[in-house]
Amino acid sequence: MTRGDRVLIIGGGLAGLATATALAPLGFKITLLEARQRLGGRASSFQDAGSGQLLDTCQHVSMGCCTNLAHFCRTLGIDHLLAPQPSLYFMTPDGKVSPFHADRLPAPLHLARSFARAHYLTWNEKARIAYALLRLRQADATSDPPFLDWLVRHGQTPRTIDRFWGVVLTSALNESPERIGLRYARKVFVDGFLRHRRGFEVSVPTVPLGRLYGEELQRWCSRQGVELRLNGAVRALAIEDNRVLAARTRQEENLEADWYVCATPFDRLLGLLPQEATDRHPYFTNLRRLETSPITSVHLWYRGAVTHLPHVVLVDCVGQWMFNRGESAPGEFYVQIVVSAARHLRGLGRDEIERRIVAEMASLFPAASSDRLHRARVVTERAATFSAVPGVDAWRPSPASPFENLFIAGDWTATGWPATMEGAVRSGYLAADALLRRMGRVTPSFVQPDL
Ligand SMILES: Cc1cc2nc3c(=O)[nH]c(=O)nc-3n(C[C@H](O)[C@H](O)[C@H](O)COP(=O)(O)OP(=O)(O)OC[C@H]3O[C@@H](n4cnc5c(N)ncnc54)[C@H](O)[C@@H]3O)c2cc1C
Repeated sequence: MTRGDRVLIIGGGLAGLATATALAPLGFKITLLEARQRLGGRASSFQDAGSGQLLDTCQHVSMGCCTNLAHFCRTLGIDHLLAPQPSLYFMTPDGKVSPFHADRLPAPLHLARSFARAHYLTWNEKARIAYALLRLRQADATSDPPFLDWLVRHGQTPRTIDRFWGVVLTSALNESPERIGLRYARKVFVDGFLRHRRGFEVSVPTVPLGRLYGEELQRWCSRQGVELRLNGAVRALAIEDNRVLAARTRQEENLEADWYVCATPFDRLLGLLPQEATDRHPYFTNLRRLETSPITSVHLWYRGAVTHLPHVVLVDCVGQWMFNRGESAPGEFYVQIVVSAARHLRGLGRDEIERRIVAEMASLFPAASSDRLHRARVVTERAATFSAVPGVDAWRPSPASPFENLFIAGDWTATGWPATMEGAVRSGYLAADALLRRMGRVTPSFVQPDL
């Protein structure tokens, strides 16, 4: 049985980083290999050639119910770089806004007054939604039938689905209501809106993700003695007698460790292992059944401020969220519009996507007329997250792989969460738990309790 303390982590996204933050303080000798020249994985930034600014590939938000992400940020001392938003602003194509904030009533009634005032739903629609929310809360948390069928069976109309359920779920799960299962739809509403007053509270980083999960984490790793190798892509894992012997890098270096944690996207994991090994185990073959969903973000720079609102949730619009990033250069104001589950934009081309979003912004905000638009940039992540289709958990692997000294992390593993930063951090903590268990060490779980 393996006893040593050398751990090799492959992948410097939040999952791999969370494993490192769990194990490093316990005295493990950790090497973290990241293929790119930056940390953060999908939650990262890039240098925009047009402005020289560090831009997030896409705005990332977390919610109050993300207890493991919050713990991770506290551990690293970066929690002060997240700004909680006490109110959410919902806007319709006519420019009308309904704010949502918690009042003094206990959960699940803390948002009832804001919901009652929402201008974009009739009283009849609100009553239908309230009834379905009640039934959803009582629904079996483990069953996962198609959610759209469930909604229709529980009295929901095309308008309540479009204007309420779809607005929340498409952004939270990066999937459209007709493709998702009940399990994660229920989780979004119960954990986010019904169980705890603070569950729905959205936090937005005040600095680019490249600083939040990049530079700050690099500093933390060097303080903790974690050896970081950027541009350190692993090409293959050598397997013998049901164990990983070494990780071979693209530079043909063989790196040996006692334990390996692979925290790459699932398609990369399959590419690292010998095919005869992955074909043998349902643990790996099931991964071929996971599907992914794209996200498009449109970055716009205007001459002059567009709105005083910090963000807007868009109802019945092409864009789903607008984030107001304020003055990015003297006289230049930066906003970002996010379209989740963006399959319907596929094939339109960047210019057409930009044209539609710019026209929508101009109709929503008088100050966003196209003659004040300075620059625009469209970014699409084609495989942004796995799709939470009905029954998806049957294909998501637990952290302990069939190989004795190989553990798996990533937002797509069996975390009980959809593909989010919270899911990624949880998976990293779960991988650390599993590794310690296999060593025979009895320690409390790294996974944090729910709100
Ligand atoms: C556009 C977009 C918007 C999103 N918005 C939100 C949001 O608002 N809120 C939220 O909670 N979540 C959001 N997410 C999801 C969130 O980004 C992910 O769930 C999370 O970052 C996944 O982390 P991870 O560590 O599991 O995977 P990744 O971030 O994909 O990390 C995997 C890492 O492995 C590295 N790697 C791959 N192959 C190799 C190799 N062979 N050798 C070494 N390294 C390798 C990759 O370079 C990468 O850094 C969004 C995702 C996208 C794409």
